Amino acid sequence: MVATVESGVQTLRNYVGGRWVTAEASSTQEVRNPATDEVLARVPLSGPSDVDAAVVAAAAAFPSWRATPPQERARYFFKLRHLLDEHREELARLIVSEMGKTLDDARGEVQRGIDNVETACGIPTLMMGYGLEDGAARGIDEEVVFQPIGVFTAITPFNFPFMIAFWFWPYAVASGNTFILKPSEQDPMVQQRVFELIEQVGFPPGVINLVNGGRDAVNALLDHPTVKGVSFVGATQTAAYVYARAAANGKRVQASGGAKNAIVVMPDANMDAYLSTIMNSFYGAAGQRCLANSLVLPVGEAHDAARERVAEAARGLRLGDGLEPGVDLGPVVSATARDRIFAAIGSAVEEGAEAVLDGRQVRVPERPHGYFVGPTLLDGVRPEMRAYREEIFGPVVGMTPAGDLDEAIGLINAAEYGNAASIFTESGAAARTFRYGVETGNVGINVGVAAPVSYFPFSGAKRSFFGSLHPQGRDAVRFYTQSKVVITRWTGGDRGTVTGVGR
Ligand code: NAD
Repeated sequence: MVATVESGVQTLRNYVGGRWVTAEASSTQEVRNPATDEVLARVPLSGPSDVDAAVVAAAAAFPSWRATPPQERARYFFKLRHLLDEHREELARLIVSEMGKTLDDARGEVQRGIDNVETACGIPTLMMGYGLEDGAARGIDEEVVFQPIGVFTAITPFNFPFMIAFWFWPYAVASGNTFILKPSEQDPMVQQRVFELIEQVGFPPGVINLVNGGRDAVNALLDHPTVKGVSFVGATQTAAYVYARAAANGKRVQASGGAKNAIVVMPDANMDAYLSTIMNSFYGAAGQRCLANSLVLPVGEAHDAARERVAEAARGLRLGDGLEPGVDLGPVVSATARDRIFAAIGSAVEEGAEAVLDGRQVRVPERPHGYFVGPTLLDGVRPEMRAYREEIFGPVVGMTPAGDLDEAIGLINAAEYGNAASIFTESGAAARTFRYGVETGNVGINVGVAAPVSYFPFSGAKRSFFGSLHPQGRDAVRFYTQSKVVITRWTGGDRGTVTGVGR
């Protein structure tokens, strides 16, 4: 049984060694529907003993999983892909009910997660090594193989409760490692459902494990000597902490952090063609995407038109429960997040920004208890303001006019974050200057959300990413494997010519 039910509300369980287990930890946290404030479940806040049980199970599973040929390991992922595809609508609805984004957005998230499972099915070619005869010297060959390392973990954020886990574990497990997932305690239900499907796939016990919880579980994973590496996604402050603590314990770490992404709108931008992609990048998922754009840098005369078009389109957005048809903007994840976003808007106005649209004033009569923030547009946001520098992670967009493209690029490069930036222009020269000079990991040219697909690395730079190898695709496989170089010589094997060769 997957969950225990008390007074109608289920308490989630951990999945360890191929079995559903009750966490030893006695404390739990409520999971609420952000559109209604209804309690959906309780999540156990697992502690060190719960984590240790998962690590022991994963370590025990490693030797025989590692020895399973890559092609056979890939077949588990073909089966998983099929099951996820069959349940895609149910999974999308679960995401909406615990996280708040709209159903269309959640469907897109499910697709992006499945894309990663598909990519991991290519593991026999993805993890192939390379070699060179006579590479070291005459008669001495040299080759590299990529070997799995052992137990890895991923610690994931609330804003993509389904997809982000798939940036990691399919690559790690397909490469022959074993794994522990620690999802966000704010919206852990969709992973509970995913693990029911994983159970149906029939991975050998211990290959993939689920531990629910918050800080205590994270710290136990970061400190456990058997955990070889950590993948993390979350706020920059947490990412920096996880990176330092796991590295101090000798582990491999890749840690993605927060963002403050900007778009540059040039005077020649084709706003008719691209307004909807721009609006989606601002207000989609209520601005709770790490690739959400929250700053507009209109260049020169682009300012007035950009302000007018964005404000007009934002006024037309329909707020509501993400499960209802026709809703453009759902609630933010929690009452705490809503209050934090309201405070950020208030402080921007106090610091002198002009609220063209103020999302604090909206009401959604059909969902009076939901955590709604209306689309907000602040003009005259200056670099010294908190609203310019800090990630607000809500449907709040600041506008900072720039004199020319160089000034706009300079503003982006002066920021502490380096996740993404986009330019809207019809000029190839401007686009080339931008992509060449901008110091972000992901770049969009007439693209609002510059989200790399699964076979490209999900990049990020500066304080948006700590580490070197990124999530997804080939980068992920390299992160989860050790390169081993083999240099071979055989007595008498260096004769140089073999009868008949080359005739
Ligand atoms: P968060 O940092 O609060 O939580 C992320 C994970 O860390 C959760 O699993 C949580 O349990 C754990 N955690 C939180 N505080 C901790 C602490 N003090 N010690 C140990 N563990 C802790 O982030 P969030 O609010 O869930 O997610 C939103 C953030 O994630 C935003 O900043 C967003 O930009 C970022 N994000 C980044 C990317 C990217 O690719 N760069 C992608 C998605 C989200």
